[in-house]
Amino acid sequence: MMFRTHIAFGLLAGMLSLKYLNVPNPYIYILIVCTAAAMPDIDESESRIGKKIRPLSWLIEQIFGHRNLFHSIFPLIAIYIIFFHCLKWNVAGAALLIGYGSHLFMDMLTYMGIGPLHPFYRKRITGFIKTGGLVEHILFILLVLADIIILSGFL
Ligand SMILES: [Zn+2]
Repeated sequence: MMFRTHIAFGLLAGMLSLKYLNVPNPYIYILIVCTAAAMPDIDESESRIGKKIRPLSWLIEQIFGHRNLFHSIFPLIAIYIIFFHCLKWNVAGAALLIGYGSHLFMDMLTYMGIGPLHPFYRKRITGFIKTGGLVEHILFILLVLADIIILSGFL
C-alpha cells in the first residue's frame, strides 16, 4: 500500500490502542506508531522512507527483496525481544509493534500480499486490493474520516 494509507491506518491503530495502555505521552507514542507504520518499506529503495536513506534501502532490497523478511513476523519478534525483554521500554515497544504490525496487516490486503514466515516458509497471504488503485484510494479516504472522528474525541 501507499505511504499515506499506512500512516492513516497507523494513526487509527495508535489512537485506538491508547485506550488499553498507560501511556505517559500520547503524542510521542502516536509519533512512534506512525513512524513504525512506514518502516517495513525500508526494503524498497523507491518507497517514501526508502528514498530518504537510499544507499541502505537499496542494499536491503538487493539482499532481502521487497516484502520478504522485512514484511514478515520476524522484525516483530525482534522488536518484542529488544524492547520488552532487553531494554524494558514497554510503551515504546508497544508503539513499534502496533505501527509495524499495522503496516503488515494493510499489505496483507493487497494482491502482492506478504510472506509472514519468509524466508522459512514462502507461502504468501494475499488480498484483493491493488496498491494505488481505486479501492485503496477509497480506503484511504475512509481511514482519514475515521482518524478525524477519533481525533476529535481524543483532543
Ligand atoms: Zn510494505
